[in-house]
Amino acid sequence: MKGRVEAIIGAQWGNEGKGRVIDALGDGFDIFARYQGGANDGHTVIIDDKKLLFHLLPSGMLYHGKLCVIGGGVVIDPELLLTEIKELQEKGMDRARLIVSRNAHIVMPYHKVLDKAQEDIRGKGHRIEMASKGMWPCYVDKHTRAGIRLEDIVNEHKLRSKLEWILEEKNMTLKRLYDKSPIAFDEVFNLACQWGRELSPYLADTSLEINDAVNNGKNVLIEGAQGTLLDIDNGTYPYVTSSSPVSAGACLGLGIAPNNIDRVLVVVKSYSTRAGEGPMPTEDDGEIGNYLRDKGGEYDVAAGRPRRCGWIDIVALNYALRINGAQSIILTKLDVLTGLDKIKFCTAYEVEDNIYHNFISEADFLSEVKPIYEEVPGWTENISECRKFDELPKAAQGFLRIIEERCKTPILLVGVGPQRHQLIDMGL
Ligand code: GDP
Repeated sequence: MKGRVEAIIGAQWGNEGKGRVIDALGDGFDIFARYQGGANDGHTVIIDDKKLLFHLLPSGMLYHGKLCVIGGGVVIDPELLLTEIKELQEKGMDRARLIVSRNAHIVMPYHKVLDKAQEDIRGKGHRIEMASKGMWPCYVDKHTRAGIRLEDIVNEHKLRSKLEWILEEKNMTLKRLYDKSPIAFDEVFNLACQWGRELSPYLADTSLEINDAVNNGKNVLIEGAQGTLLDIDNGTYPYVTSSSPVSAGACLGLGIAPNNIDRVLVVVKSYSTRAGEGPMPTEDDGEIGNYLRDKGGEYDVAAGRPRRCGWIDIVALNYALRINGAQSIILTKLDVLTGLDKIKFCTAYEVEDNIYHNFISEADFLSEVKPIYEEVPGWTENISECRKFDELPKAAQGFLRIIEERCKTPILLVGVGPQRHQLIDMGL
């Protein structure tokens, strides 16, 4: 019998808590697969009171005997990947087998330099990814067919012939466009060969491995990174990422067919957050925003940058459910709302006396909309020990039911704390 394939996708602008959800659901799966993104992403997993942050490794790395897959849609910063592997090995927590697609593109040193150079020119207000991790220049090269893939760095002859013309072109760009010094060929070549040697044990035809495994009854959990509203095509362009975090992206990034995905679950926070620039209709830069930020710990892990916070946006959530073809919702951080008098949720947008019930991804339009809120009473009881829907205060129950009703989609799990067991199974 064929195995099950399920996808966990962020419904908002990332940081929804996908890592902990994947960790919680992991027991029932044999394979954990990542399909897009790269070093910019960060999954937090808490296990035995230890907090682990993975940028590139699939969350399933902590499970004994599982197969973890980095698909061809992910861009790989080899230094970061090797460091993450080493760290897990040192902690004795490298419990799974890792394979990386031979098609995955490599973030080369010149990508980072180009990233930084362009960010400087764009200036504040137009910056997309502040981290200068070289991801978008890597994705650009992928699409202009000037990319270096994992299969290239494990083959010195092939790498040399590709890198010769690519680096020449990069150095011209760096010098003429950005007034930067050229990068020496040997430096890049030797480094890439070294990465190739260290990563070669992980290289695989990941599409074939996954499809064969599913045909042999293995279950696959697909791990989305970032979130739907950051999708290059369906997000709030240009304030988006360079890849496709939506469920369809999983098919491309892993080499699996759409009809092989059995279930899509979107993860949504009980409120909204956004890191970086771009429209966010429910952003609250007053008391509520501060409350959610402090209580929810809404600061970027790497940069410590505060995230923008506000009430949950049901218009955007319905959009995410549609774009991803999601069957269920996983709602995280309900505990963060504890203590608020009333809880608001946005059910429509208003622009110049017109009411919109559907999300419109156009950034300029979205930055003008005024959210229309409805509200329900809040609760003060500590809910972090609740494990069943019936144990929640009536007001919290009401909030969950109204989300289900407004989204016409059931909630599968509710997060009431960051720990693995702090989840309510809604008993679907
Ligand atoms: P991801 O990229 O979607 O995995 O999200 P992040 O790694 O940015 O994680 C979200 C943060 O929220 C992590 O620190 C989690 O431990 C934490 N978290 C996840 N679910 C819950 C929850 O239900 N309640 C609380 N209080 N924290 C949570």
